[in-house]
Amino acid sequence: MHRTKVRVVEDVLDANNTIARANREDFDRHGVTVVNLMSAPGAGKTRLLERALDGLAEAGVRAAVLEGDVQGSYDADRLSLLHIPVVQLNTDGGFGGECHLDANMVRSAIPSLPLADIDLLVIENVGNLVCPAEFRVGEDARIMVCSVTEGEDKPLKYPLMFRACELVIINKIDLLEHLDFDLERLEANLDAVHPGVERVRVSARTGDGVDGIREWLVRTTERASAVA
Ligand code: MG
Ligand code: ZN
Repeated sequence: MHRTKVRVVEDVLDANNTIARANREDFDRHGVTVVNLMSAPGAGKTRLLERALDGLAEAGVRAAVLEGDVQGSYDADRLSLLHIPVVQLNTDGGFGGECHLDANMVRSAIPSLPLADIDLLVIENVGNLVCPAEFRVGEDARIMVCSVTEGEDKPLKYPLMFRACELVIINKIDLLEHLDFDLERLEANLDAVHPGVERVRVSARTGDGVDGIREWLVRTTERASAVA
């Protein structure tokens, strides 16, 4: 890459981080913990949220979702059935159809979010294994979802994504019996790029393991509010 091009990319990320800090201040002021949920398209982010956010209010955590997509509100419509606040953020209307969320896009959605009435905001990023990991949006923590239909090699091919998260959700384990998929090898690849990263094996379809995600969300929300 040419030196000037490197410089431009650095400037863009600097500007993004400045806005991310402003977002963070707004979230902190309202005591809201923010989780950035990332994955490839079709890994099961929305289905996982349908499962994991259901019952979170009973655990004392009031959650909302900021739903990032290039177009449409399919996932937001599904999640609104949980009777929690869901705000749709499309990247095609004014954000050039970007394949990730950045701090500025999230900033544009803040006036629509009921920050005073929630404890946890989950930001469902645009499905993409590359650039979402490059843009901080003001979050406290990041979750990466990878499904067993994607192959064991993904941590090695897209290391930033797997390195930039605090929890890896290994989804669709109900399909393992139909696949030539080596779970041990995936976890070894995971440890090669992010040694010891916390992980849970789940099936969003059957609900197996979803309790572990719910507990992680409760723990992360409590920890962040204890620090604030
Ligand atoms: Mg989705
Ligand atoms: Zn992108």
